[in-house]
Amino acid sequence: MFSRPAAANFDGSEYGGEHIGLPGSQCRLEIAVIPPIANRFVAGESIDSALDHATGTNDDGVRVILNLLGEHYDDPAPAKADAEAYIELLDAIGRRDLDACISVKPSQIGIDISADLFADNLERIVEHAHTNDVFAWCDMEDADTTDDTLDAFRECAEQYPWSVGQCVQSNLKRTSDDLAELVDVPGKIRLVKGAYDERGAIAYKDKARVDEAYRAGLEFLFAERDRGVAVGSHDPEMISLARELSRDHSTDYEVQMLMGVREDAQRGLATEGVDVWQYAPYGDKWLSYFYRRLRERKENALFAARAVLSG
Ligand code: FAD
Repeated sequence: MFSRPAAANFDGSEYGGEHIGLPGSQCRLEIAVIPPIANRFVAGESIDSALDHATGTNDDGVRVILNLLGEHYDDPAPAKADAEAYIELLDAIGRRDLDACISVKPSQIGIDISADLFADNLERIVEHAHTNDVFAWCDMEDADTTDDTLDAFRECAEQYPWSVGQCVQSNLKRTSDDLAELVDVPGKIRLVKGAYDERGAIAYKDKARVDEAYRAGLEFLFAERDRGVAVGSHDPEMISLARELSRDHSTDYEVQMLMGVREDAQRGLATEGVDVWQYAPYGDKWLSYFYRRLRERKENALFAARAVLSG
């Protein structure tokens, strides 16, 4: 079994405890139920709370990408259970006619167990998404899983070209080649900077270099793909660049941001007519995700500390 690089700021794989310590403090909280402060980043524990969140967010003109929290299963049972939970979620989105889709992590549907199990589960989910006319994204995790993830995406995209999209990471040196290979593969592509702390041999470690690769990736996608580009970033510079490139190449695009991050900007862009999607995680495994959001940015930690102190 290989050791996994820690996620830098997207998921919570580094942390799996029952307690949470606020950054920079000795404070340890015992948490049994989801507290109001976590609700900024997590759309509750149940499908119903996630769907209610989607309804309210849709009312603001922002569409929603729902992600059931869970990852790195080394037993097929929870991987199968999460695949079933996504199928239930797809039915529920279809029934409530929400402007919502889903995003699935490879390691939550079996990639750590076997590539075949993952590919089978992904195909079942995407087939079900297609039947319900709901879109399904596949997240990208650490670089040990990139090949198997892209292989499974290609297979699904050939079968269900309008129902599936794949995330790729600009911090990986291989990504420019991957984008060139994916150019004729149907489906959408979400470009992110990359949240996993990879080795220097395979990844850019310098933020300026990651940003440069992100700009180059956007330029390539807007020039070469005609199925829409998803800009998975909170970075105002990248969002402005996407707007320019869309004008230059007449390519549709969407902006995707996380729940609880720059939500004013999400609503503002939507008001200007940009297609904005908010990635909203939910489920009972919310603690490590919430902890990650607090650690990534001083403002988030201060927000949590203020909420705790004001009771
Ligand atoms: P950064 O490069 O971190 O920051 C650039 C600028 O953006 C900042 O200077 C600031 O102006 C603004 N900004 C950034 N964060 C904040 C904040 N919290 N509050 C206010 N302003 C902020 N990673 C993966 O590896 N795999 C995935 O599948 C994946 N999926 C993602 C899906 C979505 C919808 C999003 C938004 C991110 C996803 N990521 C994923 C995470 C991604 O790789 C980055 O780690 C993360 O988005 C930070 O990069 P950034 O481009 O948003 O901004």
